[in-house]
Amino acid sequence: MNMSENSNSQGSSSMENISDQIDQSISTADDDPMEWARQAYANLKAQQERDKIEQEEKEQVKELDQSSEISKENVIADSDEIQNNSTDADEQNALTLESTLKSHPAPANIQDKDSELGEFDSTFTWSAEVLAAQGHQPDQISLDEINWLGKLRKGLENTRQGFVTGLLENLGDDPLTPEVLDDLETLLLRADAGVSATDQVLDALRTRMNEDIVEPEEGLKFLKKQLCDLIDGPINESGNELLFPIKGKLNIWLMVGVNGVGKTTTLGKIANLAVRSGFSTLIAAADTFRAAAVDQVKIWGERSGVQVVANTSPNADPAAVVFDAIGAAKSKGTELLLVDTAGRLQTKHNLMEELQKVRRIITKLAPDAVIESLLVLDASQGQNGLKQALAFGKAASLTGVVITKLDGTSRGGVALAVSSEANLPIRFIGAGEGIKDLRPFKSFEFVEALLAKR
Ligand code: GDP
Repeated sequence: MNMSENSNSQGSSSMENISDQIDQSISTADDDPMEWARQAYANLKAQQERDKIEQEEKEQVKELDQSSEISKENVIADSDEIQNNSTDADEQNALTLESTLKSHPAPANIQDKDSELGEFDSTFTWSAEVLAAQGHQPDQISLDEINWLGKLRKGLENTRQGFVTGLLENLGDDPLTPEVLDDLETLLLRADAGVSATDQVLDALRTRMNEDIVEPEEGLKFLKKQLCDLIDGPINESGNELLFPIKGKLNIWLMVGVNGVGKTTTLGKIANLAVRSGFSTLIAAADTFRAAAVDQVKIWGERSGVQVVANTSPNADPAAVVFDAIGAAKSKGTELLLVDTAGRLQTKHNLMEELQKVRRIITKLAPDAVIESLLVLDASQGQNGLKQALAFGKAASLTGVVITKLDGTSRGGVALAVSSEANLPIRFIGAGEGIKDLRPFKSFEFVEALLAKR
């Protein structure tokens, strides 16, 4: 796709204005970050126009179908089609959630207003810069990625206000001093980064400062690298930079965590992400303790066209639900089974036992499955959340963490504590209640958003 194609295909005046300003060749971000952002914006605008036309055409066809009174059957067929089409198209490759997302735009029934391209403003250019810095080309990025970075940056605003504003004020134009580092220590602790992560980062900075004079810009760059390295430690150890289901296998992802942290919401968002990425998906509603949980899961399932295996009788055995769900997943050839579990407080021994029982059933019934046990943590709970992580680790054999509610908390630094103290890879982060407010976790994006200047 080149720029001239884009401007021709949609032809709006605002697009032409942008196109007029840009060169026909693809620029690199090193040449001119603003130029890169303009090209990316023009591409996305053109894509949006094309999607709109496609959508209108689809709606016209749907209206015709409805008039011939076969609409109900079509809805069911549509949701099957979402899964079947995507699965067929992707069969050859084990693609990541990230790359498959680009090749599988959201099906019409799960698109939402978040899919709109916003203004060409400082949020857009910042997001574009972050994507460009990761080596993307302006014609390779998706609207979801751009919109997500904007949300992440906004979500981390409270953490950043205490942290970065203080840091930048202290840094000023002068080289790093021991006093600045002392202040940084306080700021990191206040953002709930934890003692271990704070010590690690400060030690590295002090060593660097003893070797050489460190100018503020360089100091900030060095700090960002330290934070990224720290978060990447457990991710690198796991051998998987990003978590995604393995194609051609049954992947079972257990969502665990105490009530209210956003476990069910996270499961719903992951189901949506998985469907949009072309993975055949099934949900097991194994949180049978909380009355409304099954209904809540069903709503999330409906939103993404994912079937939910549930038992609505009171006090149903969660292990029995998982038993049924694994049976269904095997017979359907499902690639990803998402299991919602009850909000187990680590102090309640029987609940921990229940969780272990679910694990045993999975190991017994699906010995070849790829199992992930993801702890969902509410960022606003800061260090308390971390204590839960360590307690859950024993019962649930945790393999990773999802951090939720990064929006509106000043404790976003807890991501650093999770990495350094729980030694668990962070796999996804949530920054809002919407269906698209969850993305695979990337340390670079997180740290850039945390330390964004403007
Ligand atoms: P569960 O008890 O752990 O299953 O938690 P729920 O999924 O029911 O979520 C509890 C509340 O947190 C709900 O009101 C969600 O909408 C909200 N929530 C979940 N994730 C996020 C997030 O990333 N940001 C915000 N602001 N709210 C969230």
